[in-house]
Amino acid sequence: MKVGIVGAGMVGSAAGFAIAMRGVASEVVFVDRNMALARAQQEDIHHAVPFAQGCKLGSGDYDCLEGAGIVILAAGVAQKPGESRLSLLSRNAEVFSDVISKVRQYAPDAILIVASNPVDIMTEVAQRASGLPPERVIGTGTLLDSARFRALLAGHLGIAAHSVHGFVLGEHGDSEVLAWSSARVGAEPLDRIAVQLGVEITETVRAQIDEGVRRAAYRIIEGKGATWYGIGAGLARLVLAIRDDQRAVLSLSIRTPQIAGVEDVSVSLPRVVGAAGVINTLVPSLDPDEWEALHRSAALVKDSAKGLW
Ligand code: ADP
Repeated sequence: MKVGIVGAGMVGSAAGFAIAMRGVASEVVFVDRNMALARAQQEDIHHAVPFAQGCKLGSGDYDCLEGAGIVILAAGVAQKPGESRLSLLSRNAEVFSDVISKVRQYAPDAILIVASNPVDIMTEVAQRASGLPPERVIGTGTLLDSARFRALLAGHLGIAAHSVHGFVLGEHGDSEVLAWSSARVGAEPLDRIAVQLGVEITETVRAQIDEGVRRAAYRIIEGKGATWYGIGAGLARLVLAIRDDQRAVLSLSIRTPQIAGVEDVSVSLPRVVGAAGVINTLVPSLDPDEWEALHRSAALVKDSAKGLW
């Protein structure tokens, strides 16, 4: 499958690298308004291909997206000093509308994956601007946050992260919800397994893991200015699920008729993903506090987008 990436910055290039390394696409092409950057990323990743799987690399203007089955949107606009959040959002929405009309011109059948932040709102911007059905415009949402949750919980339990199942739901951001009550190890509830393993999951442990997940981006940005490897790997995982029609369950953001009592909103829930995009949304079993937190998170995202449409 050919994958297009619009925005060849840190996130876009990390995604291209992860996709090439995992052999998830037969071809990756970069488009960026900075064409020299797109070309440089193409050339750099091309040199890694002999150490990995076969993958063609390309870059250029939007016409190079022709034939892409998936287009990842990772273009970003930086905040100007003193600029309000809504003004930044409106500028981002304008950029996105322009980008999307060009993407649609050359890759009308592609599934769109949105990685630009704030990802939940940008996913809805992309869906509205493209006119595509919501299941074909997929935001990475809390895909990465859920991976962080599993990794930290797995480390505490001394169990492989692949055997620890848990989701972070809602906004990809401060209001996200760690769904502790539905976390599983193997097929068993977390608390029962913790007792068997002799590992305590105290309030302090929960608070540490919560902080580790929720504040991860802040810590990484403090150390290196931005985050890219985690999301790059997540994007490669998502591309694989679509390419192979895997029906994998991943926490992703798409425009949804109703989430925790909030109507017509785009935040993350566990979704079944295959060749057609999001095939199904799973309703998690949550305790009342978690439902309330999910309601608040979805309402907050909906509120932030007010004025955009
Ligand atoms: P991130 O860390 O989110 O990847 P970067 O600033 O590294 O952020 O990358 C964002 C990329 O998006 C930049 O390379 C920038 O040139 C590109 N970009 C911004 N606006 C557009 C646009 N309208 N069309 C294409 N690319 C764009």
